[in-house]
Parts: sequence; C-alpha cells; structure tokens
Amino acid sequence: MKKTLKVFKFGGASIKDADSIKNVASILERFREEKLIIIVSAMGKTTNALEKVVSAHNYGNTELARQLLDDLKKAHYQIMDALFEPGDEVYSIVNDTFVESEWVLDEPPHENYDFMYDQIICVGELAASRIVSSYLNRRGLRTQWLDARDVILTDDIYREGWVQWEETEERYAHKVPPMLESPGFVLTQGFIATTSENATTTLGREGSDYTAAIFSHLSDAESMTIWKDVPGVLTADPRIFDNVSKLDRLSYKEAIEMTYYGATVIHPKTIKPLQNKSIPLYVKSFVNPDGEGTVISGDVEEVYPPIVTIERNQALLQISTRDFSFVAEHHISQLFTLIADQRLQVNMMQNSAISFSVCVNDTDDKVLRFIGHIEKNFKVILDRELQLITVRHYTEEVLQNLLGGKIVMMEERSRGTVQVVVKDVPVISWKAS
Ligand code: ADP
Ligand code: ASP
Ligand code: MG
Repeated sequence: MKKTLKVFKFGGASIKDADSIKNVASILERFREEKLIIIVSAMGKTTNALEKVVSAHNYGNTELARQLLDDLKKAHYQIMDALFEPGDEVYSIVNDTFVESEWVLDEPPHENYDFMYDQIICVGELAASRIVSSYLNRRGLRTQWLDARDVILTDDIYREGWVQWEETEERYAHKVPPMLESPGFVLTQGFIATTSENATTTLGREGSDYTAAIFSHLSDAESMTIWKDVPGVLTADPRIFDNVSKLDRLSYKEAIEMTYYGATVIHPKTIKPLQNKSIPLYVKSFVNPDGEGTVISGDVEEVYPPIVTIERNQALLQISTRDFSFVAEHHISQLFTLIADQRLQVNMMQNSAISFSVCVNDTDDKVLRFIGHIEKNFKVILDRELQLITVRHYTEEVLQNLLGGKIVMMEERSRGTVQVVVKDVPVISWKAS
C-alpha cells in the first residue's frame, strides 16, 4: 500500500503570536495538495501560565485563579484580533472553550490535584487548535478540527496518562478515516486525551510530540515532521552551549537515548511508536523550512560526534537497609514496584551490599511520596537540585570541560557513554584577616 499521509506537529514556539501563526500557514501552503494530520500544542508559554491558575485555585485563591485565566483569555483574544475580522465565529468558539475551565474554578478545589490540573490545563491546546484551524480555513486551506479526546484513550493516572492502544486504535478507525476522505487537512491537539469516563487526561509535559507519534502510528503515516525553532537536532542544547552542530541523520536508538536523558527537543516517548512502524521523523525549522533538518530513522550509520545532554532537577537517593540485610537479594523488587507505582523516572542506579543509590527526575512531590512509603524499612539520604550530565560518544577532553566547577556525586561509564550526577561547587567567599 502506498503511504501518502504525513503528520506535522507545531509546538508552542511556532504559534506563539499572530505572526507565527501566519508563518505556519505559509509553511502549510506548500503542502496544500497533500493529506496532513496536524497536531498543535498550546501557544507559547500558555501551559506554564495555566499551571499558575491551577496552583492558585488549589490554594483557595480563586480570585487570583480567575484573574490569571482571564489574562490568558485576553492574550488569546489579542492574537485573534490580529488574525480575524471582528465578529468572526472563532470568538464565540474560543469563549466557549474557556468556559469549561472557568467552570472548574466555580467548584471548590478538587481533592485530586492531578485530576483538577488536567481539567483546567487542556484549555491551552483546545483554544490554540481552534484558532489555528479557523485561521487556516480563512486562508483558504481547508481544515477540519478534531478533538484528540475522541481518539486517544488513557488510563486514569492524571497528568501522565498511559495510552490504551487497543481502544485508541478502535476509536481512531471509527473517527479519523472518514475525515481523511474529505478534502483538506485534519487538525487536532497535542498533549490531551481522555479516560473511559470522559475525563480529560494529559500525556505529561511537552507531550505533544508524543501525540503526533501516536497519530503517525495509528494512520500508518509516510513520515512525521516536528517544526521547531532550531535547525534540527543539535549535538547539545543551544541555550546552554554555543559550540553545537546539527546532526543530519540519527538512528531511532540514538534519538531515544538522547531524549530520555534530557535532550528536550523531542519528547522521549515519541520514538517508539514511530520505530515500531519504521516511520521516519523529521525535525525541521519553522524559521527556515527549506533547511534539511534532521532525519531520524532505522537505517543510519552509527558514527556520531560527542552528544551532550543535561537533565536538571535531579534527586539522588541513597537507600540503605536498617537491619544490614543485602539490598540486592531481599529488597530490590519491592523498591522497584514502588518506583513504578510513583511513576518515577530512573536515570541512573548503583548498588553496594546494603545500599542502593538511584538518581531520578525530581518532579513535584513524587520523590517525597516515595520516601514516605519506604522510610519505615530503609534509611534514606536525599540530595536534590542536582544535574545529570550524559555524554554519548565522549572524549576525555569534552568530559573534563564539562566537569569543571562541579562536584561529582555519582558516575557511570559504559562503552561510549558517560553519565555523571553533579552539583555545583558552592562559591565560598573568604577574606584573609
Ligand atoms: P516546542 O515549540 O515544540 O515546544 P521545544 O521548545 O520543546 O519546542 O523544543 C525546542 C528546544 O529544544 C530548542 O529551542 C532547544 O533549546 C531545545 N533543545 C534541547 N536539546 C536540544 C538539542 N540537542 N538539539 C536541538 N534543540 C535542543
Ligand atoms: N502544552 C504542553 C506543555 O507545554 C504540551 C506541549 O507543549 O507539548 O507541556
Ligand atoms: Mg515544547
């Protein structure tokens, strides 16, 4: 069967204001004749701003929450003013979209914070997708709007839903192919999904790339493209390092390793659904759409320069048995069950006779919850605010440069890869008397 469908994902940076949305439309003009499923996330930093709304409401400061949500609504209206004629139907559609989050603020804060978070935060993607799709139609690019929650079903772990693939496939088959038969593009939201009870869930921060991969998988897409503010995947984050270069081609394996350890250019869950169906992933620049970008696929020769990733907000836990029993023989499975229950992302681990050290992403209060579960039986030493530096295809020179001014807390070397958990050397000022 000839594959002709492509999946495009436009993230927050690519639709952050009216001019950016116009630029997206210009890129899409080039694909006017093609079948596209387009995924958009919330505009600019909307999701960060919505997190403040959730937090204010949770602390009982509902007036502030309402004010912050209203500011965001106004910011969306300002963007619409630059894209649409007054009285365009998009205004009432976006207004109705915000009403759903406003209703949540009319209720007292929900006891399940994560549930409440998802019911409010989804307005970012919903409003952005309404605005972009209406604008594309206005530009003569026919576009049908799809609610991603009619397709992607997850379990009921809010803020980090796991996709229920079988049901999702069924929902997709029912909903999307008829839309694809009609002329024009199909446009939907990243990041959001639903439970079987019709409550909104999300796939984890920055999860829109993953949504695009889910749709690519479901639709047997010919390729997936994510449009970014960088020329492609680089050897390190250009916000941190200035001597970076573009990687023209990457294997799925290299990409999954890089992204798992903090290359935030692609969400780590993106690669697997693509790799399973050998769908190539292009990372291209929305600033320079003619650039070659990076292609990630299965058939790449594995020769790479040193690639550096830095993951911040790391916690290191040294867990020791209180009764001097061997940790590996008696306790590892218990500890791992609890780690999985808390959905902690483990980045590195080491064990000795009676202790087990693990470096994890320090998100929200997950680490403290985990410690709460184990401290009866284990002694725990916790270090926070650490960084994990991963260098793949390392050279000693690159490594020494990176480690200057850092205290190494844990280190592991395997063939070609070094991982180091570090903290900054405290600056001690002293005066000779
Ligand atoms: P989106 O607009 O889709 O949300 P992101 O901001 O999440 O895009 O991702 C793009 C950013 O990822 C870049 O601006 C860059 O700073 C960062 N980044 C981190 N690591 C890399 C890397 N190895 N290559 C390219 N960009 C990277
Ligand atoms: N808007 C969501 C976030 O900022 C999802 C995404 O951008 O991919 O996390
Ligand atoms: Mg992002």
